[in-house]
Amino acid sequence: MNKKKIMTDKMLKFVKIDQQNPNKRQVDKRIDDFKEIYEQFIHDKAKEQSSRCSQCGVPFCQIHCPLNNNIPDWLKLAAEGRLREASELAHSTNNMPEVCGRICPQDRLCEGNCVIEKSGHGTVTIGSVEKYITDTAWEKGWIRPIKVKKEIDLSVGIIGSGPAGLACAEELRKMGYQVTIYDRYDRPGGLLIYGIPNFKLEKFVVERRTKLLKESGIKFHQKIEIGKDKTLKELNEKHDAVLIATGVYKPREVNLPGHDLKNIFPAMEFLTASNRKGLGDKVENFENGTLNAENKNVVVIGGGDTAMDCVRTAIRQNAKSVKCIYRRDKENMPGSTREVNNAEEEGIEFIWLSNPKKFIGSEKISSLLVEKMKLGIPDSSGRKKPEPIPNSDFEIKVDIAIKALGFDPEDLPKLFNDSNLLVSKWGTIKVNMKSMETNIAGVFAAGDIVRGASLVVWAIRDGRDAASSIHSYLENKTLKKIKVA
Ligand SMILES: Cc1cc2nc3c(=O)[nH]c(=O)nc-3n(C[C@H](O)[C@H](O)[C@H](O)COP(=O)(O)OP(=O)(O)OC[C@H]3O[C@@H](n4cnc5c(N)ncnc54)[C@H](O)[C@@H]3O)c2cc1C
Ligand code: SF4
Repeated sequence: MNKKKIMTDKMLKFVKIDQQNPNKRQVDKRIDDFKEIYEQFIHDKAKEQSSRCSQCGVPFCQIHCPLNNNIPDWLKLAAEGRLREASELAHSTNNMPEVCGRICPQDRLCEGNCVIEKSGHGTVTIGSVEKYITDTAWEKGWIRPIKVKKEIDLSVGIIGSGPAGLACAEELRKMGYQVTIYDRYDRPGGLLIYGIPNFKLEKFVVERRTKLLKESGIKFHQKIEIGKDKTLKELNEKHDAVLIATGVYKPREVNLPGHDLKNIFPAMEFLTASNRKGLGDKVENFENGTLNAENKNVVVIGGGDTAMDCVRTAIRQNAKSVKCIYRRDKENMPGSTREVNNAEEEGIEFIWLSNPKKFIGSEKISSLLVEKMKLGIPDSSGRKKPEPIPNSDFEIKVDIAIKALGFDPEDLPKLFNDSNLLVSKWGTIKVNMKSMETNIAGVFAAGDIVRGASLVVWAIRDGRDAASSIHSYLENKTLKKIKVA
């Protein structure tokens, strides 16, 4: 067999899909068969893609990257084979380039604004080159723990080890601060570990980052919930500054008749069980079949990226059928087009223009009553408003229903038992947008808990900005102390 002949774009797709196949052993073998050529192919592909950058001089890609990554320059370095320099440049603005390369919605950010894409010739695949550069740097051992030049005897406490908390911690540690992260989960990483599925972001990618931060001297206290095990006030007294980076976790409810029937789950419960299973944990509710979609008719309610993660997880668990119910049409879905197309390719059935009306069953859910919708005039957000079509109800057979309508912030002042902490009417923490400082002196906030549910790349950006504000705050505080003395 001429293996080289098979290494076409089609082959790349074959490998990509097969990597996601639950039958891992068989897949590994097939990848092994092609490993040498596959690696060479990826290398050539990244090189080819980087050299497609026209160095246009107006880097719209960079402007539309929330981290203002110096994309044209690292593409040039990659095209010249100077991968170590490319990786260093990528790391100078981003704490986790390999994560962003994998999961940023590039079609809405850098790649969607590539000049070559705009001129109709297809974007430079910036994300995959970013991933390639950084994965290579990890493989070659170029990514090393932080060596602090001068330790600073000031400490910062960070609540939450998601991307916002981790990015802030790394930046502060580089400057020499003593950093402690507190997290209520047993593993660091936040939604990178327990939300985003393994097929989009392999867990070892997150784990090697957090290991590196531990080796850099950052202390991690897992299974500590602020508000329960320690108060915000205690942390504020213990540390010289505090960052709140707790994300948003309150699921939006589907308050329909029958909502208390069994086998109706919030998206995070379903995704966390699957991620825990992938991490090798014993998950009783998965083992006993409750949260396992195998051979079941699964319905996911919602049209955002979390809904796409749920349908794509269910199909990988060998569900009998997977349907996605969304009240608008494909053009008006909130999720990324790329994710929806992936889900369609994998066999998920989308029931557009449909709205759930009632969960039906005795004890457990057995079906869902749905009504058909049509799109009316645009509402204040500019999106067409869905309206029910009278007498259009129909029933869908369901064994598991998953609610994926998004997340709101938890009631933090209540959770932290600190009514002084100011929040917006949506429950997000109010900060001074320039300094990221809350109304409590020395307490800063970053990530989803400030923006509402957003993106990893924005959380990293916020974490970096918060680190620089905390540094200024601590410098001023120290100067004041010296003056007083
Ligand atoms: C299913 C799903 C899929 C997603 N897919 C993508 C994607 O493909 N691409 C993308 O860019 N974004 C994606 N996102 C969004 C992205 O994950 C978030 O925007 C990002 O993780 C926010 O980072 P964060 O650090 O603010 O919060 P989080 O990642 O949520 O981390 C917050 C951390 O704080 C901890 N915590 C909370 N409260 C407390 C407390 N009281 N005490 C101690 N610790 C606490 C939590 O345990 C958690 O570890 C997805 C989100 C979900 C839910
Ligand atoms: S961080 Fe995200 S938006 Fe920025 S270059 Fe990388 S993939 Fe594109």
